[in-house]
Amino acid sequence: MTQVVVVGAGPAGVLATLRAADLGAQTTLVTSGAFGGMAANDGPVPVRTLAHTARLLREARQLGQYGVRVSEPVLDYSRLLVRVREVVNEVDTHSSLRRQIDDFGVTVHEQAGAARFVDPHTMETKGGLRLQADKFIGVNRRLPIAGFELTSTHSDAWSLTSVPPSMLVVGAGATGVQVASIFNALGSRVQLFEAGPRILATEDESVSAAAAAAFREAGMVVRENFGTIESFEKTTTGVRMNFSKEGTRLNAEALLVVVAIGWMTDTSGLNLAAAGVELNERKFVKVDEYLQTSAPHIFAAGDIIGRMMLVPQAIQGGYVAATNAVQGRKLPLLPEEEVTPIGSFTEPEYAQVGLTEAKARKTNDIVTAILNFDSTTRTIIDGRKFGFCKLIVDRETAKILGCHVIGERAVDIVEVAAIALAAGMSVDELARIPLSYPTYARSLVRTAVKAARELGLQVGWHSHEVA
Ligand SMILES: Cc1cc2nc3c(=O)[nH]c(=O)nc-3n(C[C@H](O)[C@H](O)[C@H](O)COP(=O)(O)OP(=O)(O)OC[C@H]3O[C@@H](n4cnc5c(N)ncnc54)[C@H](O)[C@@H]3O)c2cc1C
Repeated sequence: MTQVVVVGAGPAGVLATLRAADLGAQTTLVTSGAFGGMAANDGPVPVRTLAHTARLLREARQLGQYGVRVSEPVLDYSRLLVRVREVVNEVDTHSSLRRQIDDFGVTVHEQAGAARFVDPHTMETKGGLRLQADKFIGVNRRLPIAGFELTSTHSDAWSLTSVPPSMLVVGAGATGVQVASIFNALGSRVQLFEAGPRILATEDESVSAAAAAAFREAGMVVRENFGTIESFEKTTTGVRMNFSKEGTRLNAEALLVVVAIGWMTDTSGLNLAAAGVELNERKFVKVDEYLQTSAPHIFAAGDIIGRMMLVPQAIQGGYVAATNAVQGRKLPLLPEEEVTPIGSFTEPEYAQVGLTEAKARKTNDIVTAILNFDSTTRTIIDGRKFGFCKLIVDRETAKILGCHVIGERAVDIVEVAAIALAAGMSVDELARIPLSYPTYARSLVRTAVKAARELGLQVGWHSHEVA
């Protein structure tokens, strides 16, 4: 029987464990932290709970507009953290994954401390556990800047006792923008610093610009192209960031500086060199399409390979890695170009699937259609008129190449677009689906009608529907 050791009980490791056990391998799961990994304990689940709180505060402030009289909501941060723990525990209780793993008779070593390779077929944990197997399936970047130890990460939110009155967030990718947006809504004075020319650099440019405008409107200071950080220093009330731009020395201060400049996996603790596992130029574990590393008996999946660092992709990778570890090189990973909806629960939400306009223009002759949310029925009913839905369509084939949404329920709207993309639908086919009125998803169909018209395609009575 093949012996498999899986390292890490995040979504990738848990799925790899289940798959390997299901394929009949004698499987052991070892993890330094709690079962569920970052996803359950430090990432999407707790952060989404904070985002929900920000949303509730916003909704509470809207009550007066709809004739419901209440006093101004007041946030109790300690109580919020209790709620975060309740949610994490409840999600954990309802997860059937642990039960399934136990049912397979897998040996699980939780809170075991970091495991490291001592030779290609042996790992040891800090607690002295020694694991041997035929196959192995295997965390924030620190900058060499003076005073970097004075900065925080999103994880420090769990140990705060109150909402900090002021916060600098450095890095405006998905995590930084999420932290900035949530704490701005919870009452911090937030300054968001991005070294690049625009926040959310991987989103469509229209979405980046709209998000920056919305954040500014909500009172956040957004500084794109801010320059280069020189140092961090302690002040009587917090931390000062010294930076320079075009020869001018500048600074900004806050009680807390949160750095979110790109997620790195901490591979150093694994002692991968002892097992012959190479890293790529970005310092993530190098794998091929079967998720096999340079050591043929070691496979890797999840954030550690540095591709799409998201839960669904970690799950998919865990399954693929375990299949190939047990059955040989059988199942290649779907290419990254496959349909991958991505969204973030900021205020306002944004989401995308497929190509951005800039990328699509490089390869295709395209048309774009934009439906603004200031004139759609549902957004008017809900008083959520900010944002738009944008479709990018190939002119020749009428196939949908990309969808980008910012505003209320952006993530859900894009999920529907993802299904249309996965099905290879043309934009007129999408335009002919009479989605319920008045819903958010319907804005997608109305955008499709606009694009179809632009292409001269007939959509019959659908072109007369209201949005
Ligand atoms: C703030 C934030 C918000 C996010 N929001 C979302 C979201 O909304 N949607 C989404 O899809 N994704 C989100 N993500 C990303 C998501 O959390 C990750 O992509 C996902 O958790 C990756 O899963 P994984 O299995 O690769 O690793 P992880 O979940 O990081 O789990 C790794 C496990 O390995 C263990 N480990 C590490 N090193 C060792 C070692 N040497 N020995 C033993 N065990 C070890 C750790 O203890 C941990 O249990 C978010 C991330 C962050 C930080």
